[in-house]
Amino acid sequence: MSRSQRVVVVGGGIIGLAVAERLCRTRPGTEVTVVEKEPGWARHQTGRNSGVIHSGLYYPPGSAKARLCRAGATLMVEFARAEGIPHEVCGKLVVATRADELPRLRQLAARGRENGLTVTELDPAGAREHEPHVDALAAVHVAETGVVDYGRVCAALVRRLEAYGATLLLGVEVLGTSTPAAPALGTAGMGARGGVTVRTTRGDLPADLVVACAGLHADVVARRLGHEPDTRIVPFRGEYRVLAPAATHLVRGLVYPVPDPDLPFLGVHLTRGIDGEVHAGPNAVLALAREGYTWGTASWPDLRDTLAFPGSWRLAARHLRTGAHEMARSLSAHRFADSLRRLVPELRDEDLLPAPAGVRAQAVRRDGSLVDDFLVKRSGRVVHVLNAPSPAATSAFEIARHIVDDLLHEG
Ligand SMILES: Cc1cc2nc3c(=O)[nH]c(=O)nc-3n(C[C@H](O)[C@H](O)[C@H](O)COP(=O)(O)OP(=O)(O)OC[C@H]3O[C@@H](n4cnc5c(N)ncnc54)[C@H](O)[C@@H]3O)c2cc1C
Repeated sequence: MSRSQRVVVVGGGIIGLAVAERLCRTRPGTEVTVVEKEPGWARHQTGRNSGVIHSGLYYPPGSAKARLCRAGATLMVEFARAEGIPHEVCGKLVVATRADELPRLRQLAARGRENGLTVTELDPAGAREHEPHVDALAAVHVAETGVVDYGRVCAALVRRLEAYGATLLLGVEVLGTSTPAAPALGTAGMGARGGVTVRTTRGDLPADLVVACAGLHADVVARRLGHEPDTRIVPFRGEYRVLAPAATHLVRGLVYPVPDPDLPFLGVHLTRGIDGEVHAGPNAVLALAREGYTWGTASWPDLRDTLAFPGSWRLAARHLRTGAHEMARSLSAHRFADSLRRLVPELRDEDLLPAPAGVRAQAVRRDGSLVDDFLVKRSGRVVHVLNAPSPAATSAFEIARHIVDDLLHEG
């Protein structure tokens, strides 16, 4: 990549901002523009998550998630330290509450060790030393997990980008792209140099390279930028509650169930955030819109996209029972509390107060299988981030390194 190139980054979540910051820092002279459709940064997944710096416990050794999460977590902690952003590496407890979970808990401990983590297997008394109120048959403690506010990480990235002189466009949506037959306004020569023109709601942007980090709209933006992905984003809402002040003493740090191996999500858990609040959740219900943060938010174009994709139907057929259970739990505060009581039996329904939800962007293949790993592809002059679910916030700096140093460097 030559120094005078113009790179347009689509999306002002943590991935887009981390990519833009790495470009400015490591390739001085590159003209970087970040385009975000919302009036502020990190308004979607990045600003509506659990705030956990994941350790890399769950991911198959050698997978992109395992590699990028471990290295990314280290970079995240370094960044937070350098920027004075409150964070804590507090460790977490994974708790088995049923006998049938014990073999999976042992497998998880083995996987954690393979991934280079400090894992301690605990009996019930050992678990209670970490979390006095959990009811565990056995537990695993992982030392490397932490907490941070990813919104604050993004605010710091934006300050750095401003200092580097990047162009930051809020409230501007990317609509499409074209290889300019006629040069776009003020871009004479771009076509000859083989660039692209990014069409936005505020006019055309000339670019030599584009990096699309559009989260819940990853597949839509890929199509707008001329690439037909094999996958679709299916939006899964994650609903949270927050513990009432009188109940926060029941949880010291992070308490998770043993995950169901058939599901991509970790199961409702309890997380003491860096703000001291204890968040409960998230569950996983199919959202009726990509940005469907409540049952009342539906979008016909989004639903049409989901329903027209054969993978959605196959996914639904495969997970019918789980889906029905999740929906029932979403609609009943008592059921939601029941799931948490498996971990901490003293929790009462009234200890759980409403809290804002998030929506996960999960890529699904045509055969209905979920894309487990991160998926980033270069097609011509555009790099598409097609699947960046959890732990992508943790891994953001490593994902950015991969995009800038490996993918943008090619060709
Ligand atoms: C409920 C929940 C809990 C999670 N918990 C954790 C956790 O604890 N730890 C962790 O590591 N990860 C967690 N994650 C995952 C993490 O939040 C995401 O992986 C990460 O935020 C993805 O960042 P992103 O930049 O790809 O997407 P986003 O943050 O969604 O940003 C994409 C941006 O692109 C913009 N955009 C889309 N289309 C266009 C367009 N056409 N033009 C311009 N802009 C556009 C959007 O407005 C948006 O701001 C969680 C996610 C959820 C939903």
